[in-house]
Amino acid sequence: MTDCIFCRIVAGEIPAKRILETENVVAFHDLNPAAPQHALVIPRRHIATLDAATEDDRGLLGDLMLAGAEVARMLGCAEKGYRTVMNCNEDGGQSVYHIHLHVLGGRSLSWPPG
Ligand code: 5GP
Ligand code: ZN
Repeated sequence: MTDCIFCRIVAGEIPAKRILETENVVAFHDLNPAAPQHALVIPRRHIATLDAATEDDRGLLGDLMLAGAEVARMLGCAEKGYRTVMNCNEDGGQSVYHIHLHVLGGRSLSWPPG
């Protein structure tokens, strides 16, 4: 059994409030939301970090972005606006090492991030 929590969510071994599922990606609500709407979009296939992605992952990364936009529409925050973020490694604030696109919306978001 893998010890990657997001692989286990993909496999259905850990429950998650799923929003969208496609052939290549799964989207679900973040357990500790940082905004009124906070979803995560992940590839079914394990990739640890954006830095570990390769040319072979080009299409999959596009799938993640397009699924993020679809999720924002589904959550009702597309028109007012939202943010997509992918944290990478320690300084980027990554805590789960299976890439995931954060989709944050439902309030005005400040910039730059801390
Ligand atoms: P990171 O810090 O790696 O960019 O983001 C990881 C995100 O995953 C955090 O926002 C955290 O709340 C979320 N998270 C961690 N464990 C779980 C879990 O078991 N289920 C869900 N739905 N979200 C999780
Ligand atoms: Zn994984």
